Amino acid sequence: MFAPLDLGFTSLKNRVLMGSMHTGLEEAKNGYYRLAAYFEERAAGGVGLIVTGGIAPNREGWVKPFGARLTNKRTADKHKVIAEAVHKHDAKICMQILHTGRYGYHPFNVAPSAIRSPITPFKPRAMSEKKIQSTINDFARCAGLAKYAGYDGVEIMGSEGYLINQFIVKHTNHRTDEWGGSYENRIKFPLEIVKSVRKEVGENFIIIYRLSMLDLIPDGSSWEEVVQLANEIKVAGATIINTGIGWHEARIPTIATMVPRGAFSWVTKKLMGEVRIPLITTNRINMPEVAERILSDNHADMVSMARPFLADAAIVNKAKEGREDEINTCIGCNQACLDHVFANKVSSCLVNPRACFETELLSKGSGTKRIGVIGAGPAGLAFSITAAERGHTVSLFDASSEIGGQFNMAKNIPGKEEFHETIRYYSRQLEIQNVKVILGKKVSANELLDQKFDKVVLATGVTPRDPGITGQDNPKVLSYIDVLRGNKEVGKKVAILGAGGIGFDVAEYLLGHQEEQSIQEFLRSWGIDPNNSVRGGVAGLGRADASADREITMFQRSGGKMGGRLGKTTGWIHRSNLKFRGVNMISNVSYNKIDDEGLHYTRNKSIHIYSADTIVLCTGQESNKSLFNELKNSNQSLHLIGGADISEELDAKKAIEQATRLALSI
Ligand code: FAD
Ligand code: SF4
Repeated sequence: MFAPLDLGFTSLKNRVLMGSMHTGLEEAKNGYYRLAAYFEERAAGGVGLIVTGGIAPNREGWVKPFGARLTNKRTADKHKVIAEAVHKHDAKICMQILHTGRYGYHPFNVAPSAIRSPITPFKPRAMSEKKIQSTINDFARCAGLAKYAGYDGVEIMGSEGYLINQFIVKHTNHRTDEWGGSYENRIKFPLEIVKSVRKEVGENFIIIYRLSMLDLIPDGSSWEEVVQLANEIKVAGATIINTGIGWHEARIPTIATMVPRGAFSWVTKKLMGEVRIPLITTNRINMPEVAERILSDNHADMVSMARPFLADAAIVNKAKEGREDEINTCIGCNQACLDHVFANKVSSCLVNPRACFETELLSKGSGTKRIGVIGAGPAGLAFSITAAERGHTVSLFDASSEIGGQFNMAKNIPGKEEFHETIRYYSRQLEIQNVKVILGKKVSANELLDQKFDKVVLATGVTPRDPGITGQDNPKVLSYIDVLRGNKEVGKKVAILGAGGIGFDVAEYLLGHQEEQSIQEFLRSWGIDPNNSVRGGVAGLGRADASADREITMFQRSGGKMGGRLGKTTGWIHRSNLKFRGVNMISNVSYNKIDDEGLHYTRNKSIHIYSADTIVLCTGQESNKSLFNELKNSNQSLHLIGGADISEELDAKKAIEQATRLALSI
């Protein structure tokens, strides 16, 4: 990881790239200033090379209406603060040029052919030959302006199903002119772009080309085509080739937490030796040991990590100094990064709310108070370490014998094993920040008052909501806590009541094996060819047979899609996985009663009995405010955070952010 990479005219100080992420700062008020602070913190944290979020070369290439674009010197002048900030720390930065093509979320979008994408409502206009030529010129102009703004290079986004990728494959290119038809014609567009960009920027400027090595769509590129393109891209003038895995419209998870770490580096490895140019590999590389293994196994010359830099700006320096146990690990949840982008909000990070808010959430070390924190779940932990870092004296209590709160259940869900890392991170930070931790102690109101803390912060979490179903005291009925803590036996035929995040997790838990899925198993289960010998890596393949030794049915009272409130970028994965594994889903029911026969419910005015062996209640959570209610009339200065304040399920993001902001304000 720490070996320099010689690029001829320049060299990179290490093998770690901070991959491109659109954060929404590109379009935000004071965006350039905020981006400069955000990138500077990562540069100071030791990364060798950074790639910015995508910047369009013209209006048609916008991500969304008024999305960031670079078409004139006035805008390029505004970018200068970004490159200057990064250069203070001996790091390099390339600007990504992204033309979204048919993925553009606006009515001006264009594409090789007028075929609407399944993930955008706007049908694109087919580009005229004149438009193709002017777009190539726009890429070159944009690269020239990036150079003028002080960037060390550009990344040309040729993967993930964006415009360039749309030209390359038949699936989206139905043209009959010189830009369509044969493979040679279809790759003319990327080759002309790279050539024009090189001509514009001269020799001593980095050009990274992001090449889709595994499209994961049926009519994608074959491996031979990928190798041919890589070689021609090199000849056209690229300095480095970065890996792209999967189009955005592919219904295969590529970066979510259930994707095993480093699951796709084997794809880049196939190209090593086929083309004489440094190669970067990517996807779910979230810890230094994964990066190191990939590099030492010669899967690539460099690794790209994107979201791990949101979670921890100093990940590279921590690795270099042997402080891996201090790394705040990206858990692959997408909850505060990608889900925010899709909701048109500025990205951040569930485990690090400072990400993209560097200019706002500043830690000032002036605290002098004695603070008691009750509850060592994510909220209590985030509060304690931030308050202690500021100089306050913090005592943290939990009734349980371990820290982590509900994360101790979450980490047992197959595909959520990364939650272990968050608990490990907090555990180490508590030591570093000298927080006094008292476990196995259920604290009472009087004990707290006796301690005469300057402030008490209640992070006492939630209790399961009582659904009030007749017969719910039947021995068949278990709470999700009984199941996930492994306290009770679960039968072969199971009804899960409630289809929120916990209902889905319980279903995964009851279906799943506990060990982490191997990469081979993962590829097989999602129908990906581990040899990449079929088009797009998936042509003609389907998901491998799934056998479950339990019959599971999920019920929900409301109508509509099951799991409708799951994350935008991950909900479909959970729904698809459970359906594939034979879980039945029944919505729009009212529960009549539970007895020895099972669950009695009404749907469409008819009464049914589901003869379950076990009925698991996942019917929501309520804030645990008991301590708060006992203390609120005392003189004690009190704060309520996390689930104890608002009990929306599966929202550690809100809990950690609220806790951090509070700790920075008192
Ligand atoms: P908790 O984690 O509930 O912690 C509260 C702590 O307070 C507990 O440890 C408890 O022992 C302690 N306590 C209570 N009263 C006292 C007392 N009187 N004295 C001492 N200690 C006390 N969220 C997400 O954002 N994404 C996910 O993917 C996700 N998956 C989940 C999966 C499962 C299976 C579960 C159960 C939850 C999941 N969550 C997820 C939700 C997330 O864990 C919660 O939002 C988060 O834990 C809330 O944090 P908290 O600190 O407010 O409360
Ligand atoms: Fe990683 Fe989740 Fe943070 Fe995104 S929000 S960077 S996926 S931990």
